[in-house]
Amino acid sequence: MSQNKTFIEFHEALLKLSHNPDFIGDNRSRKLASLSDLAGQLLQVDRVSIWQMNATGDRIDSEALYRLEGGHDYQPIALVESDNPAYFRALRTARVIDASEAHSDPRTAAFNETYFEPLGIHSLLDAPIFDGGRLSGVICLESLRRRTWTLPEISFATAIADTISLINTHEAWIRSQKQLAYVTHFDSLTGLPNLQSFRERVLHLIQKMRQRAGEGFTLIWIDLDRLKSVNDGMGAAGGNRVIAEIANRLRSLYLNGRDKVARVGGDEFAVLIRTNTDSDRIDYVIHQIQHCISDPLVIDDRTLRMTASLGVCRYPEDGGDTESLLRSAEAAMYHAKENGRARMQAFSSEIHSTARSRFVLEGELRQAIQNNALDVFYQPIVNTADAHMVSIEALVRWHHPEQGWMAPIEFLDVARNAGLMQDLGEVVLRRVCQDRQQAASRGHPLPITAINLAAEQVMDDRLPRQVQEMLEQYGVAGSELQFEVTEDAIKGDSKSMQATLNELVALGSRLSIDDFGTGYSSLSRLKHLPFSRLKIDRSFIRDIPDDADDIAITLSILGLARGLGMEVVAEGVETEDQRQWLQQQGCELLQGYLFSKPVPIDQLRSLHSNPLRSAL
Ligand code: C2E
Ligand code: CA
Ligand code: CA
Repeated sequence: MSQNKTFIEFHEALLKLSHNPDFIGDNRSRKLASLSDLAGQLLQVDRVSIWQMNATGDRIDSEALYRLEGGHDYQPIALVESDNPAYFRALRTARVIDASEAHSDPRTAAFNETYFEPLGIHSLLDAPIFDGGRLSGVICLESLRRRTWTLPEISFATAIADTISLINTHEAWIRSQKQLAYVTHFDSLTGLPNLQSFRERVLHLIQKMRQRAGEGFTLIWIDLDRLKSVNDGMGAAGGNRVIAEIANRLRSLYLNGRDKVARVGGDEFAVLIRTNTDSDRIDYVIHQIQHCISDPLVIDDRTLRMTASLGVCRYPEDGGDTESLLRSAEAAMYHAKENGRARMQAFSSEIHSTARSRFVLEGELRQAIQNNALDVFYQPIVNTADAHMVSIEALVRWHHPEQGWMAPIEFLDVARNAGLMQDLGEVVLRRVCQDRQQAASRGHPLPITAINLAAEQVMDDRLPRQVQEMLEQYGVAGSELQFEVTEDAIKGDSKSMQATLNELVALGSRLSIDDFGTGYSSLSRLKHLPFSRLKIDRSFIRDIPDDADDIAITLSILGLARGLGMEVVAEGVETEDQRQWLQQQGCELLQGYLFSKPVPIDQLRSLHSNPLRSAL
């Protein structure tokens, strides 16, 4: 058979398999078994095995084994890099390892005594599997007789490796979707659905009930009284245990299968009951809730008695849509609190939302996001040596009609609870690109701009597309932007999050780890993520050069960054002493009030291109 014909035959067989619905629906191990069967039969090799690389990239574990004589078998075997350095090097650099004389080939000779000789293997053809840029495994074809591998065979082996890589990517995607669905819908302390999830449930019920007129439901808003004094007395951990215990009790309350409990805020819960008319049942549930909260709690040998204020409203009587129902229930709850706590208040038309209401603020924020009405201030990041501005950080601001300029701390939690972080991030990204385009068209291009990404954005694999479209729309190059991600946002170990970060880098943007030192990042993980800059959290800088612990931490962060070849920015530099100390330690970049506060874009220009401290 001509090589071309063989080539086509191989690839057709692979296409047929990989498009077969049964194959697509199979689990991973059956997919790998089918692929190794196919490779074994078509190439007539004696053994086919598939191996997976571990997370740190120094060991491969067998996942599947096929034998021409004897079909499938699986034995867990591991190969570590330190025993076989030449082989691992070849995996990382070669497209394939095609060894006709495996026992004497420098790349594979180390396996001779323990593997080739006992099994009688003469020739092998190994194709590394790459997921994006990362080596994730290898497929090995082994033959007892001597083989000189042909071009179609080599191309077939790499095509199978690519198919396995597609399987990996697809699995990572599914995992990240699940993870995203989980973090966006469940509260991590109690495992209860969160506000966003509760809101979706309410909306769903309203839609259902509009179709089948007649029925309604009741919404109970629960706010624990005086949780703050528990936090003050027993620490935040004590407060968390109270919340977790009460969450457990609420969960095990007798609620009809269709009713629903959620944790909708720090010390707030909500319950949905599927009736608006059965007042006996409503009273009964309210009583149960009050009872389960006031039952004594024992925490660290202390007995606590908690109470809660309850606000109750009904659909459709007290609100015709999700937002007005939440507002009514919350307003009723505040009323109960004002009347002396530990009581229940049903909503009535005399009760109005107060300025404290988070839903009022949330509604306004939602509106501001929809109208692109958030603003961005910029804070310079300067060169330590000469205090010249080298880049700027974009920081979101909200000009509230009554409350004036609001800092992120005043509204980011509201946005997060309302599931608005992705939308907010998009508004900021757009504003930054617009500002850049406008500044450039006026002949005053802006310095490279760092944008903060929320965890919700980093976990969304649509982010790189969104960034790319925005760059194109406003004629901005990827290299003009940097992205800052906190340690917390990257703490999961998802391949798709890694892929998202890599795609941002591929657009030309550099990535920084923000607030470094406050979260958990292991050195080995950092090494594998595409960050090129690290920002030391300002809590470590504040007491420098007086606090010995902070000095030790900062020095070790600087050392760590140097070892990883990363640039370091010290945040929150407010004093000359801090600046001098950081300069002596070789920290290249600084940010803080000493140089400038975050300012609106038109004030940035006057700072531009001058050293930011005239003393220098
Ligand atoms: P961050 O990313 O650590 O931003 C730096 C914060 O430190 C800014 O607060 C800045 O005003 C403040 N800061 C800078 N220099 C000094 C200093 O010398 N002393 C003191 N005391 N503070 C200083 P800001 O603007 O209030 O932002 C707070 C946080 O909100 C940011 O912390 C960031 O985590 C988040 N944030 C801000 N804008 C965005 C955004 O567009 N998207 C997302 N996801 N988060 C944002
Ligand atoms: Ca930041
Ligand atoms: Ca920071």
